Amino acid sequence: MRQLTCTAPSTIEWQDVSEPRLQGDGEALVRPLSVARCDIDLFLTSGVFPLRGPFALGHEGVAEILALGDGVRGLEVGQRVVVAFQVSCGACGSCAAGHTANCDRYPVLSDYGMQPLSGTEYGGMLSDVLRVPHAQAMLAPVASTVDPVALGSVSDNVLDGYRAVAPHLKEQPEADVLIVCHGLKSVPLYATQAAVALGAGHVDYASDDVEALALAERLGARPIRTDFEKPERQYPIVVDAGLTSEGLRYAIRATVPEGVLQSVSFYAGRDMPMPLGRLYTLGVRFFTGRAHSAALLPEVVPLIEAGRLRPAEVTTRVVDWEDAPAAYGEPAIKLVVRRA
Ligand SMILES: [Zn+2]
Ligand SMILES: [Zn+2]
Repeated sequence: MRQLTCTAPSTIEWQDVSEPRLQGDGEALVRPLSVARCDIDLFLTSGVFPLRGPFALGHEGVAEILALGDGVRGLEVGQRVVVAFQVSCGACGSCAAGHTANCDRYPVLSDYGMQPLSGTEYGGMLSDVLRVPHAQAMLAPVASTVDPVALGSVSDNVLDGYRAVAPHLKEQPEADVLIVCHGLKSVPLYATQAAVALGAGHVDYASDDVEALALAERLGARPIRTDFEKPERQYPIVVDAGLTSEGLRYAIRATVPEGVLQSVSFYAGRDMPMPLGRLYTLGVRFFTGRAHSAALLPEVVPLIEAGRLRPAEVTTRVVDWEDAPAAYGEPAIKLVVRRA
């Protein structure tokens, strides 16, 4: 079968690899129908993280079930499913607690399409067949009436944006929200969409990226163009989504005393300065950590089926499956690859 593979920094091509097979009763094989490029993928393919040889690409996608092990209940061959990007068993203590990003049975970062980070190849979603080792835990059924292209990013970036605001708006209904976008492309826009959908008061979007600001405005946010020097005001809920120490410092300064600062940033490989004295004195509550894909999908998929979250509005480029190698390295806020 064909698998989109990064073979060297900025070199992406189809490779022929052997097709995965069922290896146990609880497993599934799926055929990805639509796959989105995660905000981290361009960092993976650029070689910022040292490559350990060729690796499979793609970890956000919706698929069709091709085969199921004998022990799988509640799923059917032919069914359309969103595939959790993190491998998780659904049965250990961490999974039972909803912490499916850190399943006890797998090493950290056991994800599809992230071999440069984990060192283990679990396969990528830009392939003809993908093996899912824990079908009931990792596959979330979705109505076949929803366009697969709209679902491409749900298993990671969409739910990452959702969880950035949902628990905090539950605690503080109708609170004003500030999204600080300083490098991440799509996650802050999904967070914007979720904040609007969940009834936040005002949703403001601070960034130095004019394309992202225009898109945020279309999603219902007030755009604030900034060089991250000084926030206009403070907010009870702030989302930090980016790469720079300036952006993080701006987000901290924009949070009210006793407010919530939720970071969805992956500050890889270096220490970020944190003004802990300020956070302590003002009681700013700082949250970080990866999204829990399998645990969140049953919460997020129904919101999309009901039309409350509309991920397609964040998509800026859709390409055919055949064109993935050329398109995957090009800039776009959100790229989705669809199978014909
Ligand atoms: Zn991702
Ligand atoms: Zn587990």
